[in-house]
Amino acid sequence: MEAGQPAYRGQQLFEALYRQRVEAVDQITTLPNSFRSELTKNYAAGLPQTQKRFVSVDGTVRYLIGFADGQSVETVWMPEGDNGEQGDGSEAGEEEAAGGPREAKGGRRRATVCVSSQAGCAVNCQFCMTALLGLLRNLSAGEIVGQILRVLQEQKVSPESERINLVFMGQGEPFLNYENFMKAVRLLVAGVGIPESRMTVSTAGIVPRIRDFGGEQVRPKLAISLNASNDATRDQVMPINRKWNLATLLTAARQFPLRPRERLTFEYVLLNGVNDSEQNAREVVALVRGLNAKVNLIALNPGPEIPFSAPEEERVHTFQQSLIQAGIPTFIRRPRGRDIYAACGQLKRAEVVQLSA
Ligand code: SF4
Repeated sequence: MEAGQPAYRGQQLFEALYRQRVEAVDQITTLPNSFRSELTKNYAAGLPQTQKRFVSVDGTVRYLIGFADGQSVETVWMPEGDNGEQGDGSEAGEEEAAGGPREAKGGRRRATVCVSSQAGCAVNCQFCMTALLGLLRNLSAGEIVGQILRVLQEQKVSPESERINLVFMGQGEPFLNYENFMKAVRLLVAGVGIPESRMTVSTAGIVPRIRDFGGEQVRPKLAISLNASNDATRDQVMPINRKWNLATLLTAARQFPLRPRERLTFEYVLLNGVNDSEQNAREVVALVRGLNAKVNLIALNPGPEIPFSAPEEERVHTFQQSLIQAGIPTFIRRPRGRDIYAACGQLKRAEVVQLSA
């Protein structure tokens, strides 16, 4: 390793930070004093800090996690998850489908952590409050892992005590911070002990990275944030579509190498009067047909400065039924933590104010 230390020091550091989850390097007693103070001086190793905590009536907790340079992101703890994994072919999906009691197999409870990969985001999806921040910076692999460890510590749980699912759907576009994101995944699998089959990454459609991702040995499940059924609407709702349009995106999806039993997920945020008609449902069917995929519907989570509204519940169910009747497994994601701005598309370091919906 660097810093003139023998290679096993790296292993000791890794063990302490990721398995034992020590707070700061000066607490790693297996390292010599001189090396500890050198690390503290030169590197911001250790866990990031919880700056704020917002607790929802539904048990969801939104954490504002701060890093050494003053930058911060949000990480969301969702006891029992949000139904997002249902029908994706994984064990986590089966647990969600079983629903009911909170206890998962083996007597361990299950929970989902929604993880940020960047501070802010450059992708500019029009329904998303994070987009209003712009891109502030990429997170390092250590920071991506650190926010998860901090939340596990706050909740007093570990991957051994609880079935932890991770969704990389917080602030940022993971595929625009690809190297650090993948490094974080490998650290989480090898160091923290969370299997990649319990992780899902969502992309707005960064097509070249979807191809790279398909070639990874160790990778989470893939979700594609679709949100429109034709290019005209998607250009408007997700400007990234002007770079990689639906035909290009769906080609990448069709070529994506799935593992046995694995299904792709398409996320679809329903916006009242914009993408939620019967015609839109038929177009989604045409796009997704033939793919080994399922669709997650999410009624828009409202927020200030967002120029859309959520459809009525009945509309969401009608849309779901249209897809199901066409043979496409379709689920409705439970909104979690809306009252504290912790739900999808609401992560913008907002203080809690009264929501109208
Ligand atoms: S939805 Fe995701 S990719 Fe789009 S602006 Fe928000 S954080 Fe970025």
